[in-house]
Amino acid sequence: MPSVGERQGSTLYSLNRRTKIIATIGPSSEDEHTLAGMIDAGMNVARLNLSHSTLEEGLERFARIRSVAAQRRCEIGILADLPGPKVRLGSFDEVRYLESGATVNLEPGPGHSSGNRFFVDYETLLEDVHLGDRLTIGDGAIVLAITEKTPDGLVAEVLFGGRLQGRPGLHIPSDRLRTTTPTSEDLRLLDAFVEVGVDMVAVSFVRSAHDIRRVGLEPAPRGPLVVAKIETRAAVDNLDGIVMASGGVMVARGDLGAECSIEDLPHLQKDIIARCIALGRPVITATQMLESMVTAPTPTRAEASDVANAVFDGTSAVMLSGETAIGTNPSLVVATMARIAARADQEFDYAGWAHQIKRDRLSEPQGVDSAVTDVMTMAAWRAASEMGVKAILCLSRSGFTVRAIARFRPHAAILAFSPDERTVRQLTMSWGAVPFSIDRMDDLERTLKDALTIARDAGHVRSGDIVAVLGGSSDSTGATDTLRMVRCP
Ligand code: PGA
Ligand code: MN
Repeated sequence: MPSVGERQGSTLYSLNRRTKIIATIGPSSEDEHTLAGMIDAGMNVARLNLSHSTLEEGLERFARIRSVAAQRRCEIGILADLPGPKVRLGSFDEVRYLESGATVNLEPGPGHSSGNRFFVDYETLLEDVHLGDRLTIGDGAIVLAITEKTPDGLVAEVLFGGRLQGRPGLHIPSDRLRTTTPTSEDLRLLDAFVEVGVDMVAVSFVRSAHDIRRVGLEPAPRGPLVVAKIETRAAVDNLDGIVMASGGVMVARGDLGAECSIEDLPHLQKDIIARCIALGRPVITATQMLESMVTAPTPTRAEASDVANAVFDGTSAVMLSGETAIGTNPSLVVATMARIAARADQEFDYAGWAHQIKRDRLSEPQGVDSAVTDVMTMAAWRAASEMGVKAILCLSRSGFTVRAIARFRPHAAILAFSPDERTVRQLTMSWGAVPFSIDRMDDLERTLKDALTIARDAGHVRSGDIVAVLGGSSDSTGATDTLRMVRCP
Protein backbone atom coordinates (compact mmCIF):
# COMPACT_ATOMS: atom_id res chain seq x y z
CA MET A 1 0.00 0.00 0.00
CA PRO A 2 1.39 3.46 -0.76
CA SER A 3 2.28 5.54 2.26
CA VAL A 4 0.05 8.38 3.42
CA GLY A 5 2.54 10.82 1.90
CA GLU A 6 2.28 8.98 -1.39
CA ARG A 7 -1.51 8.87 -1.35
CA GLN A 8 -1.72 12.56 -0.60
CA GLY A 9 0.86 13.25 -3.28
CA SER A 10 2.78 15.32 -0.75
CA THR A 11 5.93 15.11 -2.85
CA LEU A 12 5.92 15.48 -6.58
CA TYR A 13 7.53 12.21 -7.56
CA SER A 14 6.71 9.85 -4.73
CA LEU A 15 3.77 8.00 -6.32
CA ASN A 16 6.12 6.87 -9.03
CA ARG A 17 9.23 6.13 -6.98
CA ARG A 18 10.56 2.67 -7.86
CA THR A 19 13.70 2.54 -5.69
CA LYS A 20 12.93 1.65 -2.08
CA ILE A 21 14.18 3.44 1.02
CA ILE A 22 15.46 1.67 4.13
CA ALA A 23 16.02 3.81 7.22
CA THR A 24 17.75 2.78 10.42
CA ILE A 25 15.79 3.47 13.58
CA GLY A 26 17.79 4.71 16.56
CA PRO A 27 17.61 7.24 19.41
CA SER A 28 16.73 10.11 17.01
CA SER A 29 13.89 8.29 15.30
CA GLU A 30 12.35 5.79 17.69
CA ASP A 31 9.47 7.97 18.93
CA GLU A 32 6.04 7.62 17.34
CA HIS A 33 5.92 11.12 15.94
CA THR A 34 9.24 10.78 14.10
CA LEU A 35 8.39 7.28 12.85
CA ALA A 36 5.13 8.60 11.42
CA GLY A 37 7.00 11.48 9.77
CA MET A 38 9.49 9.08 8.21
CA ILE A 39 6.72 6.84 6.88
CA ASP A 40 4.99 9.84 5.36
CA ALA A 41 8.29 10.99 3.85
CA GLY A 42 8.70 7.64 2.06
CA MET A 43 10.42 5.09 4.30
CA ASN A 44 9.58 1.58 3.00
CA VAL A 45 11.63 -0.53 5.41
CA ALA A 46 12.73 0.20 8.98
CA ARG A 47 16.10 -1.27 9.96
CA LEU A 48 17.05 -2.17 13.50
CA ASN A 49 20.83 -2.19 13.89
CA LEU A 50 21.23 -4.70 16.71
CA SER A 51 24.89 -3.87 17.24
CA HIS A 52 23.85 -0.53 18.70
CA SER A 53 21.05 -1.56 21.04
CA THR A 54 20.05 -4.19 23.56
CA LEU A 55 17.61 -6.91 22.58
CA GLU A 56 14.94 -5.27 24.75
CA GLU A 57 15.38 -1.89 23.05
CA GLY A 58 15.24 -3.60 19.67
CA LEU A 59 12.02 -5.43 20.48
CA GLU A 60 10.46 -2.26 21.84
CA ARG A 61 11.32 -0.40 18.65
CA PHE A 62 9.97 -3.31 16.61
CA ALA A 63 6.59 -3.14 18.37
CA ARG A 64 6.39 0.63 18.01
CA ILE A 65 7.16 0.54 14.27
CA ARG A 66 4.46 -2.11 13.76
CA SER A 67 1.93 -0.02 15.66
CA VAL A 68 2.70 3.27 13.85
CA ALA A 69 2.61 1.48 10.45
CA ALA A 70 -0.80 0.02 11.36
CA GLN A 71 -2.11 3.43 12.43
CA ARG A 72 -0.98 4.91 9.11
CA ARG A 73 -2.30 1.88 7.20
CA CYS A 74 1.05 1.42 5.48
CA GLU A 75 3.02 -1.67 4.62
CA ILE A 76 6.40 -1.18 6.29
CA GLY A 77 8.92 -4.02 6.33
CA ILE A 78 11.20 -4.47 9.34
CA LEU A 79 14.79 -5.60 8.88
CA ALA A 80 16.70 -6.85 11.95
CA ASP A 81 20.41 -6.45 11.28
CA LEU A 82 22.51 -8.91 13.31
CA PRO A 83 25.85 -7.62 14.66
CA GLY A 84 27.98 -10.57 13.54
CA PRO A 85 31.55 -10.85 14.79
CA LYS A 86 31.95 -7.07 14.95
CA VAL A 87 34.88 -6.07 17.09
CA ARG A 88 34.57 -2.92 19.16
CA LEU A 89 36.78 -0.78 21.37
CA GLY A 90 35.93 -0.43 25.04
CA SER A 91 33.84 2.70 25.46
CA PHE A 92 35.28 6.19 25.67
CA ASP A 93 33.74 8.16 28.51
CA GLU A 94 34.47 11.43 26.74
CA VAL A 95 35.15 12.49 23.17
CA ARG A 96 38.81 11.91 22.36
CA TYR A 97 40.82 13.28 19.43
CA LEU A 98 43.54 10.98 18.18
CA GLU A 99 46.50 12.73 16.55
CA SER A 100 48.21 11.28 13.48
CA GLY A 101 51.64 9.98 14.45
CA ALA A 102 50.62 9.10 18.02
CA THR A 103 51.18 5.65 19.51
CA VAL A 104 48.35 3.66 21.13
CA ASN A 105 48.16 0.33 22.97
CA LEU A 106 45.46 -2.19 22.17
CA GLU A 107 44.61 -4.77 24.83
CA PRO A 108 42.14 -7.63 24.58
CA GLY A 109 39.38 -7.71 27.18
CA PRO A 110 36.61 -5.62 28.72
CA GLY A 111 37.20 -2.17 30.12
CA HIS A 112 36.80 1.50 29.31
CA SER A 113 39.28 2.97 26.87
CA SER A 114 41.16 6.07 27.98
CA GLY A 115 44.37 7.94 27.28
CA ASN A 116 46.40 5.82 24.87
CA ARG A 117 45.12 2.52 26.25
CA PHE A 118 42.28 1.04 24.22
CA PHE A 119 40.49 -2.17 25.12
CA VAL A 120 39.30 -4.50 22.36
CA ASP A 121 36.47 -7.01 22.85
CA TYR A 122 38.28 -9.72 20.90
CA GLU A 123 39.93 -12.41 22.98
CA THR A 124 42.43 -13.72 20.46
CA LEU A 125 43.62 -10.26 19.35
CA LEU A 126 47.28 -11.07 20.04
CA GLU A 127 47.25 -14.35 18.15
CA ASP A 128 45.22 -13.20 15.15
CA VAL A 129 46.55 -9.74 14.36
CA HIS A 130 50.05 -9.59 12.85
CA LEU A 131 52.78 -6.98 12.73
CA GLY A 132 52.19 -4.61 9.82
CA ASP A 133 48.42 -5.17 9.73
CA ARG A 134 46.29 -2.11 9.20
CA LEU A 135 43.25 -1.74 11.42
CA THR A 136 40.64 0.94 10.98
CA ILE A 137 38.29 2.53 13.48
CA GLY A 138 34.79 3.73 12.67
CA ASP A 139 33.91 3.60 8.96
CA GLY A 140 37.53 3.91 7.91
CA ALA A 141 38.22 7.35 9.33
CA ILE A 142 41.07 6.39 11.67
CA VAL A 143 43.84 4.08 10.45
CA LEU A 144 46.30 2.24 12.72
CA ALA A 145 49.36 0.20 11.75
CA ILE A 146 50.55 -2.51 14.15
CA THR A 147 54.22 -1.88 14.99
CA GLU A 148 54.91 -4.11 17.99
CA LYS A 149 53.58 -6.99 20.05
CA THR A 150 54.06 -7.01 23.84
CA PRO A 151 53.08 -9.85 26.22
CA ASP A 152 49.70 -8.25 26.91
CA GLY A 153 48.93 -6.01 23.97
CA LEU A 154 49.62 -4.58 20.56
CA VAL A 155 51.34 -1.29 19.91
CA ALA A 156 50.02 0.68 16.96
CA GLU A 157 51.02 3.85 15.18
CA VAL A 158 48.18 6.18 14.24
CA LEU A 159 48.56 6.74 10.49
CA PHE A 160 45.46 8.91 10.26
CA GLY A 161 43.92 10.39 13.37
CA GLY A 162 40.39 11.46 14.15
CA ARG A 163 37.60 11.63 16.66
CA LEU A 164 36.68 8.81 19.02
CA GLN A 165 33.40 8.55 20.84
CA GLY A 166 31.18 5.87 22.43
CA ARG A 167 32.10 2.29 21.45
CA PRO A 168 33.62 2.57 17.97
CA GLY A 169 33.97 -0.50 15.76
CA LEU A 170 37.49 -1.78 15.11
CA HIS A 171 37.93 -3.30 11.68
CA ILE A 172 40.30 -6.26 11.67
CA PRO A 173 40.87 -7.72 8.16
CA SER A 174 38.27 -10.53 7.89
CA ASP A 175 40.77 -13.20 6.86
CA ARG A 176 42.45 -12.67 10.25
CA LEU A 177 39.26 -13.22 12.24
CA ARG A 178 38.57 -16.68 13.61
CA THR A 179 35.00 -15.95 14.74
CA THR A 180 32.45 -16.97 12.14
CA THR A 181 29.04 -15.58 11.41
CA PRO A 182 26.33 -15.96 12.64
CA THR A 183 27.69 -15.81 16.21
CA SER A 184 25.89 -17.42 19.14
CA GLU A 185 24.77 -13.93 20.16
CA ASP A 186 23.35 -13.44 16.63
CA LEU A 187 21.36 -16.66 16.95
CA ARG A 188 19.98 -15.57 20.33
CA LEU A 189 18.85 -12.23 18.86
CA LEU A 190 17.51 -13.97 15.77
CA ASP A 191 15.34 -16.34 17.83
CA ALA A 192 13.72 -13.42 19.62
CA PHE A 193 12.97 -11.58 16.39
CA VAL A 194 11.68 -14.67 14.59
CA GLU A 195 9.35 -15.17 17.55
CA VAL A 196 7.76 -11.73 17.03
CA GLY A 197 7.56 -12.25 13.25
CA VAL A 198 10.31 -10.02 11.83
CA ASP A 199 10.18 -9.70 8.01
CA MET A 200 13.87 -9.64 7.10
CA VAL A 201 17.16 -10.36 8.86
CA ALA A 202 20.61 -9.23 7.75
CA VAL A 203 23.68 -11.35 8.43
CA SER A 204 26.94 -9.43 8.91
CA PHE A 205 30.45 -10.42 7.75
CA VAL A 206 29.27 -13.36 5.64
CA ARG A 207 32.17 -15.22 4.00
CA SER A 208 30.46 -18.10 2.23
CA ALA A 209 27.06 -19.56 1.34
CA HIS A 210 27.61 -21.90 4.27
CA ASP A 211 27.37 -18.94 6.70
CA ILE A 212 23.93 -18.18 5.30
CA ARG A 213 22.81 -21.79 5.57
CA ARG A 214 23.94 -21.84 9.22
CA VAL A 215 21.23 -19.26 9.96
CA GLY A 216 18.88 -22.23 9.61
CA LEU A 217 15.53 -20.52 9.02
CA GLU A 218 12.47 -21.77 7.21
CA PRO A 219 12.42 -20.48 3.64
CA ALA A 220 10.64 -17.16 3.08
CA PRO A 221 7.84 -16.23 3.37
CA ARG A 222 7.40 -18.63 6.31
CA GLY A 223 10.68 -17.44 7.75
CA PRO A 224 12.19 -13.97 7.37
CA LEU A 225 13.98 -13.11 4.15
CA VAL A 226 17.72 -13.52 4.83
CA VAL A 227 19.87 -10.63 3.59
CA ALA A 228 23.60 -11.35 3.16
CA LYS A 229 25.78 -8.32 3.86
CA ILE A 230 28.68 -8.26 1.43
CA GLU A 231 31.46 -6.71 3.50
CA THR A 232 34.38 -9.14 3.39
CA ARG A 233 36.80 -10.04 0.63
CA ALA A 234 35.76 -13.69 0.91
CA ALA A 235 32.13 -12.71 0.23
CA VAL A 236 33.19 -10.93 -2.95
CA ASP A 237 35.05 -14.06 -4.04
CA ASN A 238 32.09 -16.34 -3.26
CA LEU A 239 29.43 -13.94 -4.47
CA ASP A 240 27.26 -16.17 -6.66
CA GLY A 241 26.94 -18.93 -4.06
CA ILE A 242 26.04 -16.40 -1.37
CA VAL A 243 23.47 -14.65 -3.55
CA MET A 244 21.86 -17.99 -4.45
CA ALA A 245 21.66 -19.00 -0.78
CA SER A 246 20.15 -15.64 0.29
CA GLY A 247 16.82 -13.89 -0.09
CA GLY A 248 18.50 -10.54 -0.62
CA VAL A 249 21.87 -8.82 -0.46
CA MET A 250 23.34 -5.64 1.00
CA VAL A 251 26.35 -3.86 -0.47
CA ALA A 252 27.70 -2.96 2.99
CA ARG A 253 30.07 -0.25 1.86
CA GLY A 254 31.21 0.73 5.36
CA ASP A 255 33.11 -2.45 6.12
CA LEU A 256 33.61 -3.45 2.48
CA GLY A 257 35.40 -0.14 1.94
CA ALA A 258 37.79 -1.03 4.77
CA GLU A 259 38.41 -4.53 3.38
CA CYS A 260 39.18 -3.60 -0.18
CA SER A 261 40.86 -0.68 -1.93
CA ILE A 262 38.59 2.31 -1.90
CA GLU A 263 39.01 2.80 -5.66
CA ASP A 264 37.57 -0.69 -6.21
CA LEU A 265 34.44 0.01 -4.17
CA PRO A 266 32.30 1.74 -6.85
CA HIS A 267 33.00 -1.12 -9.27
CA LEU A 268 32.30 -3.82 -6.69
CA GLN A 269 29.00 -2.05 -6.03
CA LYS A 270 28.09 -2.22 -9.72
CA ASP A 271 29.12 -5.88 -10.08
CA ILE A 272 27.31 -7.04 -6.95
CA ILE A 273 24.13 -5.23 -7.93
CA ALA A 274 24.20 -6.67 -11.46
CA ARG A 275 24.63 -10.24 -10.17
CA CYS A 276 21.80 -9.85 -7.66
CA ILE A 277 19.38 -8.59 -10.24
CA ALA A 278 20.26 -11.33 -12.71
CA LEU A 279 19.54 -13.86 -9.95
CA GLY A 280 16.28 -12.16 -8.94
CA ARG A 281 17.39 -11.00 -5.49
CA PRO A 282 16.64 -7.54 -4.09
CA VAL A 283 19.84 -5.62 -3.38
CA ILE A 284 20.45 -2.74 -0.98
CA THR A 285 23.13 -0.06 -1.35
CA ALA A 286 24.18 1.01 2.13
CA THR A 287 26.28 3.39 4.19
CA GLN A 288 27.16 7.07 4.02
CA MET A 289 24.63 7.79 1.27
CA LEU A 290 23.60 11.11 2.83
CA GLU A 291 26.16 11.11 5.67
CA SER A 292 26.50 14.88 5.98
CA MET A 293 22.78 15.07 6.82
CA VAL A 294 23.52 13.58 10.25
CA THR A 295 23.88 17.26 11.10
CA ALA A 296 23.27 19.31 7.93
CA PRO A 297 19.87 20.21 6.43
CA THR A 298 20.98 19.49 2.84
CA PRO A 299 23.24 16.80 1.37
CA THR A 300 26.53 17.44 -0.38
CA ARG A 301 26.47 17.42 -4.18
CA ALA A 302 28.56 14.24 -4.11
CA GLU A 303 26.00 12.50 -1.89
CA ALA A 304 23.10 13.46 -4.15
CA SER A 305 25.04 12.00 -7.07
CA ASP A 306 25.86 8.86 -5.10
CA VAL A 307 22.17 8.13 -4.48
CA ALA A 308 21.27 8.79 -8.13
CA ASN A 309 24.15 6.64 -9.39
CA ALA A 310 23.15 3.74 -7.14
CA VAL A 311 19.73 3.94 -8.81
CA PHE A 312 21.40 3.85 -12.24
CA ASP A 313 23.44 0.83 -11.09
CA GLY A 314 20.06 -0.88 -10.62
CA THR A 315 19.90 -1.01 -6.82
CA SER A 316 16.54 -2.14 -5.38
CA ALA A 317 16.88 -0.01 -2.27
CA VAL A 318 19.05 2.71 -0.80
CA MET A 319 19.77 2.75 2.91
CA LEU A 320 20.20 5.35 5.63
CA SER A 321 22.18 4.51 8.78
CA GLY A 322 23.38 7.21 11.18
CA GLU A 323 21.49 9.81 9.13
CA THR A 324 18.20 8.61 10.62
CA ALA A 325 19.41 6.69 13.71
CA ILE A 326 21.27 9.56 15.38
CA GLY A 327 20.78 12.46 12.95
CA THR A 328 19.15 15.78 13.73
CA ASN A 329 16.21 15.47 11.30
CA PRO A 330 15.37 11.90 10.23
CA SER A 331 12.17 12.78 8.31
CA LEU A 332 13.96 15.45 6.30
CA VAL A 333 16.69 12.96 5.36
CA VAL A 334 14.11 10.40 4.18
CA ALA A 335 12.25 13.07 2.19
CA THR A 336 15.50 14.24 0.58
CA MET A 337 16.52 10.70 -0.36
CA ALA A 338 13.02 10.03 -1.73
CA ARG A 339 13.24 13.07 -4.01
CA ILE A 340 16.70 12.21 -5.31
CA ALA A 341 15.79 8.53 -5.88
CA ALA A 342 12.47 9.31 -7.59
CA ARG A 343 14.11 11.83 -9.88
CA ALA A 344 16.82 9.30 -10.78
CA ASP A 345 14.14 6.66 -11.44
CA GLN A 346 12.77 8.97 -14.14
CA GLU A 347 16.13 8.98 -15.94
CA PHE A 348 16.73 5.23 -15.54
CA ASP A 349 17.48 3.40 -18.79
CA TYR A 350 14.57 0.93 -18.62
CA ALA A 351 14.90 -0.45 -22.14
CA GLY A 352 18.68 -0.85 -21.96
CA TRP A 353 18.41 -2.60 -18.61
CA ALA A 354 15.85 -5.13 -19.81
CA HIS A 355 18.05 -6.04 -22.77
CA GLN A 356 21.04 -6.57 -20.51
CA ILE A 357 19.01 -8.75 -18.16
CA LYS A 358 17.78 -10.91 -21.01
CA ARG A 359 21.46 -11.72 -21.55
CA ASP A 360 22.60 -11.96 -17.92
CA ARG A 361 19.64 -13.67 -16.31
CA LEU A 362 20.02 -17.07 -14.78
CA SER A 363 20.97 -19.21 -17.76
CA GLU A 364 19.97 -22.47 -16.14
CA PRO A 365 17.12 -21.78 -13.73
CA GLN A 366 16.92 -24.24 -10.83
CA GLY A 367 14.15 -26.67 -11.75
CA VAL A 368 11.08 -26.53 -13.92
CA ASP A 369 9.10 -24.07 -11.78
CA SER A 370 11.90 -21.53 -11.94
CA ALA A 371 12.27 -22.06 -15.67
CA VAL A 372 8.54 -21.51 -16.22
CA THR A 373 8.54 -18.38 -14.05
CA ASP A 374 11.61 -17.14 -15.90
CA VAL A 375 10.04 -17.33 -19.35
CA MET A 376 6.61 -16.15 -18.20
CA THR A 377 8.00 -13.02 -16.55
CA MET A 378 10.04 -12.32 -19.66
CA ALA A 379 6.89 -12.70 -21.75
CA ALA A 380 5.06 -10.35 -19.37
CA TRP A 381 7.82 -7.76 -19.65
CA ARG A 382 7.63 -7.95 -23.44
CA ALA A 383 3.85 -7.78 -23.59
CA ALA A 384 3.76 -4.90 -21.11
CA SER A 385 6.45 -2.96 -22.98
CA GLU A 386 5.00 -3.45 -26.44
CA MET A 387 1.47 -2.57 -25.34
CA GLY A 388 2.73 0.26 -23.12
CA VAL A 389 0.52 -0.92 -20.25
CA LYS A 390 0.45 1.08 -17.03
CA ALA A 391 0.62 -1.86 -14.66
CA ILE A 392 1.59 -5.49 -14.28
CA LEU A 393 -0.55 -7.19 -11.63
CA CYS A 394 1.24 -10.06 -9.89
CA LEU A 395 -0.82 -12.52 -7.91
CA SER A 396 1.85 -14.14 -5.78
CA ARG A 397 1.90 -16.18 -2.59
CA SER A 398 5.63 -16.13 -1.89
CA GLY A 399 6.68 -13.00 -3.81
CA PHE A 400 8.86 -15.09 -6.16
CA THR A 401 6.96 -13.95 -9.26
CA VAL A 402 7.24 -10.32 -8.17
CA ARG A 403 11.00 -10.52 -7.71
CA ALA A 404 11.30 -12.33 -11.04
CA ILE A 405 9.45 -9.63 -13.01
CA ALA A 406 11.35 -6.89 -11.14
CA ARG A 407 14.59 -8.23 -12.72
CA PHE A 408 13.51 -6.65 -16.00
CA ARG A 409 12.93 -3.25 -14.39
CA PRO A 410 9.71 -2.75 -16.40
CA HIS A 411 8.39 0.73 -17.00
CA ALA A 412 4.90 -0.42 -15.98
CA ALA A 413 3.99 -0.34 -12.27
CA ILE A 414 4.47 -3.71 -10.52
CA LEU A 415 1.38 -4.18 -8.38
CA ALA A 416 1.90 -7.18 -6.09
CA PHE A 417 -0.99 -8.96 -4.39
CA SER A 418 -0.54 -11.67 -1.78
CA PRO A 419 -2.73 -13.31 0.84
CA ASP A 420 0.40 -13.78 2.97
CA GLU A 421 1.09 -10.70 5.10
CA ARG A 422 4.72 -11.68 5.48
CA THR A 423 5.16 -11.76 1.70
CA VAL A 424 3.56 -8.33 1.44
CA ARG A 425 6.02 -6.86 3.94
CA GLN A 426 9.00 -8.68 2.40
CA LEU A 427 8.15 -7.05 -0.92
CA THR A 428 8.63 -3.59 0.61
CA MET A 429 12.33 -4.11 -0.18
CA SER A 430 11.85 -5.17 -3.83
CA TRP A 431 12.45 -2.70 -6.64
CA GLY A 432 9.23 -1.22 -8.00
CA ALA A 433 6.87 -3.54 -6.13
CA VAL A 434 3.76 -1.88 -4.71
CA PRO A 435 2.56 -4.56 -2.30
CA PHE A 436 -1.09 -5.12 -1.35
CA SER A 437 -2.72 -7.63 1.00
CA ILE A 438 -5.64 -9.62 -0.34
CA ASP A 439 -7.99 -11.85 1.66
CA ARG A 440 -7.76 -14.99 -0.43
CA MET A 441 -6.17 -16.51 -3.48
CA ASP A 442 -8.15 -19.66 -4.13
CA ASP A 443 -9.65 -18.90 -7.51
CA LEU A 444 -7.78 -16.94 -10.20
CA GLU A 445 -10.89 -15.14 -11.56
CA ARG A 446 -12.03 -13.98 -8.15
CA THR A 447 -8.55 -12.95 -7.04
CA LEU A 448 -8.05 -11.00 -10.25
CA LYS A 449 -11.33 -9.17 -9.77
CA ASP A 450 -10.38 -8.21 -6.19
CA ALA A 451 -6.92 -7.11 -7.30
CA LEU A 452 -8.26 -4.91 -10.11
CA THR A 453 -10.62 -3.20 -7.69
CA ILE A 454 -7.83 -2.51 -5.21
CA ALA A 455 -5.52 -1.24 -7.98
CA ARG A 456 -8.23 1.10 -9.28
CA ASP A 457 -9.19 2.40 -5.83
CA ALA A 458 -5.52 3.13 -5.07
CA GLY A 459 -5.27 5.19 -8.26
CA HIS A 460 -2.77 2.99 -10.11
CA VAL A 461 -5.11 2.10 -13.00
CA ARG A 462 -8.35 3.48 -14.42
CA SER A 463 -11.42 1.80 -15.91
CA GLY A 464 -10.69 0.83 -19.49
CA ASP A 465 -6.89 0.52 -19.02
CA ILE A 466 -5.27 -2.64 -20.30
CA VAL A 467 -3.13 -4.37 -17.67
CA ALA A 468 -0.91 -7.44 -17.71
CA VAL A 469 -1.64 -10.11 -15.11
CA LEU A 470 0.83 -12.72 -13.89
CA GLY A 471 -0.20 -15.57 -11.65
CA GLY A 472 -0.26 -19.26 -10.95
CA SER A 473 -3.33 -21.06 -12.26
CA SER A 474 -3.35 -23.89 -9.74
CA ASP A 475 -2.24 -24.51 -6.19
CA SER A 476 -0.27 -27.59 -7.12
CA THR A 477 2.58 -25.75 -8.80
CA GLY A 478 4.83 -23.02 -7.47
CA ALA A 479 5.37 -21.64 -10.94
CA THR A 480 3.90 -18.55 -12.51
CA ASP A 481 2.16 -20.21 -15.43
CA THR A 482 -0.47 -17.67 -16.40
CA LEU A 483 -0.10 -14.43 -18.31
CA ARG A 484 -3.15 -12.49 -19.37
CA MET A 485 -3.88 -9.08 -20.78
CA VAL A 486 -7.14 -7.76 -19.35
CA ARG A 487 -9.16 -4.58 -19.53
CA CYS A 488 -9.78 -2.95 -16.16
CA PRO A 489 -13.55 -2.86 -15.51
P1 PGA B 1 26.94 -1.91 9.53
O1 PGA B 1 26.81 -2.54 8.07
O2 PGA B 1 26.36 -0.54 9.50
O3 PGA B 1 26.20 -2.85 10.39
O4 PGA B 1 28.42 -1.94 9.77
C1 PGA B 1 26.81 -1.75 6.92
C2 PGA B 1 28.21 -1.52 6.36
O5 PGA B 1 29.19 -2.12 6.79
O6 PGA B 1 28.27 -0.73 5.41
MN1 MN C 1 29.20 -3.52 8.38
